[in-house]
Amino acid sequence: MVPSQLSAAVHAKCPKCRRGDMFANKMYSFSSQKMNTQCSHCGFTFEIEPGYFYVAMFVSYAFNVAQMVSMAVAIYVLTGSHNPWAYVGALLGVSVLLSPFNFRYSRVALLYWLTPNLYFDPDRARDDYKKIG
Ligand SMILES: [Zn+2]
Repeated sequence: MVPSQLSAAVHAKCPKCRRGDMFANKMYSFSSQKMNTQCSHCGFTFEIEPGYFYVAMFVSYAFNVAQMVSMAVAIYVLTGSHNPWAYVGALLGVSVLLSPFNFRYSRVALLYWLTPNLYFDPDRARDDYKKIG
């Protein structure tokens, strides 16, 4: 049973086979985030070319801006505060708390939706894929 594209993206599975994990550890843990070099199921190399994940910085930046604007609007609507330090503190806190999320899902979004010519391959999702190829 192959998961849907959205389910595979949420669980950070390989974009080619949707079965292997992209990351070696959990999003929130005391160890640093570690990304697998290749898919454990189909062998797809996640970093398509050297430095490919530099592009994920721009995706992460867009995520961060969206989160900060949302948080600032939420603070204003909920508290009506005009104290700039309330905004600075809350936005820095949100930025730090969500940085593991942004790191992970900027790479997932880059591979799933922003990389041209990278599509799900049903053959790679088969149990016996490695035996064939
Ligand atoms: Zn794979």
